[in-house]
This record gives sequence, C-alpha cells and structure tokens, in this order.
Amino acid sequence: MIKVKNEIVQCDFLVVGGGMGGLEAAIAAAGAGANVVIAEKHNTLRSGCGANGNDHFVCYIPERHGDDIELAVREVGNTLDGGPWVDVDMTRVLLRHTKEVVERWESYGINMRPTGKYVFEGHSLPGQQLYHLKFDGKKQKSCLTKAAKDAGAHIMNHLLINEILVKDGRVAGAIGVDVSEEEPEMVLFQCKAAILCAGLAMRLYPQQNPTYMFNIPGCPADVGSGHAMALRAGAKLVNIDIPNVHAGPKYFMRGGKGTWIGISSTIDGKPVTPYVVGKPSRATGDVTADVWPSVYFDKMMDGSGPVFMNCTDLDNEDVEYMRWAFESEGISSIFDYFDQRGIDIRKDMIEFGAYNSDLNNTGVEINERAESSLRGLYAAGNQVGNVRGNLAGAAVFGMIAGRSAAEYVKTVEHQEVSDLPVIAEKEKLFSAIWDREEGAHWKEPASTLQQIMNDYIPAMTPRTENLFRVGIKYLNDLKKLCHEEMVAENSHEFMRCLEVLDQIDIGEAVAVTGRHRKESRGRHQRLDYKFTDLTLNNKFMRVHKDADGTFHMEYRPRRMK
Ligand SMILES: Cc1cc2nc3c(=O)[nH]c(=O)nc-3n(C[C@H](O)[C@H](O)[C@H](O)COP(=O)(O)OP(=O)(O)OC[C@H]3O[C@@H](n4cnc5c(N)ncnc54)[C@H](O)[C@@H]3O)c2cc1C
Repeated sequence: MIKVKNEIVQCDFLVVGGGMGGLEAAIAAAGAGANVVIAEKHNTLRSGCGANGNDHFVCYIPERHGDDIELAVREVGNTLDGGPWVDVDMTRVLLRHTKEVVERWESYGINMRPTGKYVFEGHSLPGQQLYHLKFDGKKQKSCLTKAAKDAGAHIMNHLLINEILVKDGRVAGAIGVDVSEEEPEMVLFQCKAAILCAGLAMRLYPQQNPTYMFNIPGCPADVGSGHAMALRAGAKLVNIDIPNVHAGPKYFMRGGKGTWIGISSTIDGKPVTPYVVGKPSRATGDVTADVWPSVYFDKMMDGSGPVFMNCTDLDNEDVEYMRWAFESEGISSIFDYFDQRGIDIRKDMIEFGAYNSDLNNTGVEINERAESSLRGLYAAGNQVGNVRGNLAGAAVFGMIAGRSAAEYVKTVEHQEVSDLPVIAEKEKLFSAIWDREEGAHWKEPASTLQQIMNDYIPAMTPRTENLFRVGIKYLNDLKKLCHEEMVAENSHEFMRCLEVLDQIDIGEAVAVTGRHRKESRGRHQRLDYKFTDLTLNNKFMRVHKDADGTFHMEYRPRRMK
C-alpha cells in the first residue's frame, strides 16, 4: 500500500511548482498576508527552466522606451514574447508590471544591470526599440527562494502535486506525493486557492537524439503536469492544438538562442534572412530563430539546408561576451564542449536545428487577474495559453496571481476534502504501482508515448483524421497498460510513472484538439484539410473536459486590443 501522511496540510494558497512564476506568486501572496505553501517537485534553489539562470527579461521601462506603452505592446508583439497566439490586452498587462518586477528583483540581489546600467539586447527585429533587458540570472533562483521564505511562504521540496481537488465548483485542495525519501508518501492538502506554475510540457515528443531522453532544451521535470491537472479539474485551456517548435544547436539541445551573436546562414555562409546586415551585433543578434523557428526544417525540405549559426565574423571581445552571457543564462555547457573538442566558433559554423515540440505558452487560459475559468485556480508562466513573455510573463502573472489570490482567500472558507472520491481512486492507483512486484518500468510507456506522438499526432505535417483517430486509440491503450502494468522501485521511479500518466492525458488533449481543427495553419498542416479557413483567423481554440471525460472545444476571438 502507498504510505499516506497522517495530517492534511492546510494553507490558504497552494503554489504548485516553485519555478520563476511559482516563487513570484508565493512572494506576492505571502507578502499580502496569505498563508502560503509552495510544493516543488525538486528544490526551488535549482529547479525549472530558470534553474541555472536566464539572461533576457522583456520589459517596458518608460524612462527608456518613452511614454507610449501602445508602441511597446505592438513591438513586443513582433518578438518571441508576443506572436499571434496571445491576447494583446494581456501583453499590455504584462508590460505595465515589468518595471516593478525588475526593480524588486534588484532589491533581492539579482543582477539586473551587470554593466552598471540597464542594457537592452537581443530577440528583436531591426528598426524596433529593444525591450529585452540583458541581466545576469545565475543567482535568480536562490534570491527568489530567499525572498519567498522572507515573505513567510513555507516551501515543501521534493513534493509533487498530482491532482487539484474541486468541491462545489471551486478549488478545495490537492493531492501530492512526497518523493524526498526512498518510499513515496501520499500527502493531502486543504487550501482555498491554488496556482499552477508547473512550466511547459517537455518530453512529449522524441527529440533529435531519442536515446538520450533528457537531452532537451527545457527543464525535464516540466512535463505538462499542470496542464493535465487543469484539464482534469475542469479548467479551460487554449491553443494546445498546435505545439511549439524551439531552435538551437543541433543535437546539443540547449534553450537560450537569443544569446548567440551570429547569423543564420547556409553552408556557404550566406544569410537565410535579411535580419542582419553586415556584422552581427550584440544589440540585435539574429532574430531568425525566434520568428521562424521552423527555418531549419523548411530549409531541409527545400534542399537548401542545413542552416548554421555563423559566428565567424566575430572579434575576440564578442566571443568572450558570449561566454559570459551563456553563463548568465545557464547554458555554458556548450562552450565547455567546444573547448573540450577544440571547436573555435570563429572558424567553425555551428549547425542549428528545430527542436521537437513542447507545450510552451499553450495551456491554461487566464484573465488579467491570472484567474483560470475554475474558481480559486490561478496559473502563470509557461503553462499559460494566452500570454507569453517567458521569464517576465511567469514573474508578472505569478505576482498578479499571488495578489489576486490573497484577496480571494479572505472571501471563502476551507472545505472538507477527505471525503472526495478521487482521493480513494488515486490511493488505489498509487498502491497498485507501488505494490506491483514486476511490470513495466516507466521508460517503456514514456518512449512509447513519444513514438505515438511523433507518428500519429505530429506537431507539424502529416496530420490527418485517420492518424488522429488511431493515435487517440493507441494513447488510451497505453493509459490502460500503464494502470495495469507500470511499476516503481523507489520514489524517483514513482514520480516518473505519474509523469507518464499526465503526459498521456496531455497527448490526448493535443490529439483531440488538433483533430478538431479542420484546416491547415502554420505548423498545423493537415493533408486532408489543406486550406486555411479564413473564418478562424485570430481565433483561439478553447478546450475543457467535463467530469465524465468528454472534451468540449470552441473557438473564441483573440483579443486584439
Ligand atoms: C536554458 C534556458 C534559457 C532561457 N532563457 C530565457 C531568457 O533569457 N529570458 C526569458 O524570458 N526566458 C528564458 N527562458 C525561459 C524561462 O526560463 C521560462 O519562461 C520560465 O522559467 C518559466 O517559468 P515557469 O514558472 O512557468 O516554469 P519553471 O521556471 O520551469 O518552473 C516550473 C516548476 O514546476 C516544477 N514542477 C513541475 N511539475 C510539478 C508538479 N507536478 N508538482 C510540483 N512542482 C512541479 C518544476 O520542478 C519547476 O521547478 C529560458 C529557458 C531555458 C530552458
């Protein structure tokens, strides 16, 4: 039998995931007087996509960018922090709050001006203002962890949340699993509100080197559990039918392409886009990978690939600057590799590639108070579907959610949770996985899932009705097999088993929504519906699941102002 913790952990506000968004939510809510618990699968000191650092913070600072926030909203909309899949009003909310976060982070000791003044670089189209503050994020997680503790939040590390408990149409608690010891322990939470900040959904698709499942651009612990929990709790998600594509060095998969100072070029050193004229500069870098991440795939298909990052024109000073910046962003391992192999980026171009898809900024739909459609449930960061901003998006909407939740929890009472049927169901499932003497190790269903996603529910073409139908059937078969055969020998494996089950739920949602979109658009290329349905321009697909597991989809207009 799975061990079950005797006492129920009680708090006003439960923060699921102590990454960048989660820590900000905790700081804000605890600072406003709420009793806050952070449940983090690993350790907030070094977890999530910001674990080793980040180095660009999109922000609007009026003293620097002028008083016209509308210009900033438009221009940021052209960068990877905007794009066609965000509500424009949410970008405005984001930019209104960024200065405040930058200043507060400085007060926590995060180095927001490594050169002594605010410097803006990268991720921008030529001719625009620059909005990406270049900072040194190496210490960001330890500084934010300290700030959360100072504000009064209680952190439970090595504790994953597996289910949000809902009673009478609002959040009442959660089911967690403590994986800090060899044997897992089920933990119940009673709370008035919760926020999902579990990051993006990595490992749903195979990557360029499938043998190394953890050679991926983002945090491998971010597997879409937040998306899955939101769906199961009945909250609405948006835009999950078209997964993202990321870009970076081929086979050596690291996020953080904005730090490269180079030109995306053909094998003959010719630029593939007009965005860099002359020598590449620190200021703008080459925005190609941001605005056309499938360039690497597209160029392969038209015969002109592969595409390389060409830094051969750089001087020593720029290369040293890149080295420093890679450390700030936590991606210095690639330079270690170059050094070990004697690769000189001033002599050798580095091949780049499009990374397979993740659900990054496709997910829970929130409003300007960071509330989801389910009462008492908030979301922020990479798992939100209608606003981007990456790091800044996580921080700002985490902060807004924390403030909103602190007000909300004053208006409602705790609810009894121990009688909810889902608790007994989970206990039975957990016990079956834990008690089984032999069966399938989590890697078996995890790799099978990636195979199914790749072959039947690809992020790009070929997508067809028949493939979706077969893929959904296979996913359901796989889920059944997991329930009947998955086995774990220790807490770590147990955690991986639960991740696979969440990933299957998310894979199914991608399939069901992709199947529902009967047209071709961007990366969603259907062989059976080749046209683009103009009536769906500027529309987001919303999805939610009802209690009996039926999916409901609808299109809603994108908010353009
Ligand atoms: C190498 C790299 C460089 C980047 N550089 C930049 C940059 O310079 N600028 C920028 O704007 N963005 C950058 N990003 C993106 C940025 O890091 C993310 O946008 C940001 O971290 C998102 O914050 P988040 O809170 O949504 O998720 P995360 O920070 O990833 O946090 C999610 C947390 O949830 C935890 N978790 C997951 N599941 C559970 C569960 N079931 N229960 C409990 N905890 C759970 C995870 O362990 C993790 O700690 C970069 C990303 C990478 C990978």
